[in-house]
Amino acid sequence: MFYGMKTLGTKYGGEGYPPQPPIYTQLMSIVKNTAAIVKGMSITLREAFQPTEVENYPDGKGPMRGAQFQERFRGKHQLQRDENGLEKCVACFLCAAACPSNCIYIEAAENTEEVRISSAERYAKVYNIDYNRCIFCGYCVEACPTDAITHGHGFELASLNATNLVMRKEDMLVPILPALPLEPRSEKDLAEVLS
Ligand code: SF4
Ligand code: SF4
Repeated sequence: MFYGMKTLGTKYGGEGYPPQPPIYTQLMSIVKNTAAIVKGMSITLREAFQPTEVENYPDGKGPMRGAQFQERFRGKHQLQRDENGLEKCVACFLCAAACPSNCIYIEAAENTEEVRISSAERYAKVYNIDYNRCIFCGYCVEACPTDAITHGHGFELASLNATNLVMRKEDMLVPILPALPLEPRSEKDLAEVLS
């Protein structure tokens, strides 16, 4: 401590140097620096003795096999369906235009009376995302006017074959949920419906 002050003393106050600061200023500086080091080390030591929390991946329960994510985690994309089970994507290409990596490829097709895929005029016949290039920025999700594309929590995407990283619509489209059973109605409700 005194060595530092002595060095400081030779540096300040000499020819070409500013005047030496008062001794209490030097002492306060040393006290403040020491307090900062003690505060920092106390956090390090406190955390060092906390129990380690380990996610039991890949042997845990659930679809993510024990991995846990924040809700906002951006994983593999999902193509959503509406409440009628139709695809939400209307092939407007806005996501592809917003993508800075140019990794979305879409081919549009028209819905017909016989075959209806989405609720609008068009649907995406082909919808590919090349995960060799995707940077998970989320711009496509923000650009989509129908909330058709979202980020899921899928993260096990690594592959030694780059071709496997080109995901097709079938890989991302959410399944049609089974119809929910009707709730039992009371006799009064039934009478209202039948009246
Ligand atoms: S997350 Fe970003 S890089 Fe990936 S497909 Fe969407 S816009 Fe493109
Ligand atoms: S995912 Fe959304 S933005 Fe992209 S083509 Fe479909 S509707 Fe348009």
